[in-house]
Amino acid sequence: MPEIKPDFTYLNAPKQRLECGRCGATQPYKLPMPCDGFAKIMIEFARKHQECRPPQPAPPLNEMTECKIINPSDECFMAGDDREALCAAGVFLGRCAYGLKSTKDGSEVLPIFITGGWNEWWLKTFGHKFEDYTDTKPHEKIAKVLDTFRYARERGSINDIGKFAKHCAEGLRRRAKEVFDATV
Ligand SMILES: [Zn+2]
Repeated sequence: MPEIKPDFTYLNAPKQRLECGRCGATQPYKLPMPCDGFAKIMIEFARKHQECRPPQPAPPLNEMTECKIINPSDECFMAGDDREALCAAGVFLGRCAYGLKSTKDGSEVLPIFITGGWNEWWLKTFGHKFEDYTDTKPHEKIAKVLDTFRYARERGSINDIGKFAKHCAEGLRRRAKEVFDATV
């Protein structure tokens, strides 16, 4: 039997989940449960994550990349040369229900997170938490991505994503002014 090293998992009591400190994967659990049942879950989780390593962060884009916004309404696009700002814009715009795909090579830039897990994905993809990213004051960078929003053709749906993109960009710039008095 391999040696179990559960040191890199910890119990996030209020959120009732196990979290791997290496890859950021989480597993919810429900209390109350028999103690032996919980020990089993913890050992299984520790075993599963015994070999895992921090994932390689996604490479930078290095050039202006246009992305198709994967959504159920209209065909539309956004562009940026900063992968993280592009993804943050996608998260704000779709509240995690829209994805982003590069129009250049069709690669997925931002997945859709209808059932959650985007925080874990962020940690895996960028090597730090989303909150740590927002601490770097990226508001203007994200707003600039939202400024590039365009529809492929005249809007057909009542869901005006373009209008919401403007609203999000305005909100980010307003927030930046309030919080750290950025000159925009
Ligand atoms: Zn792990």
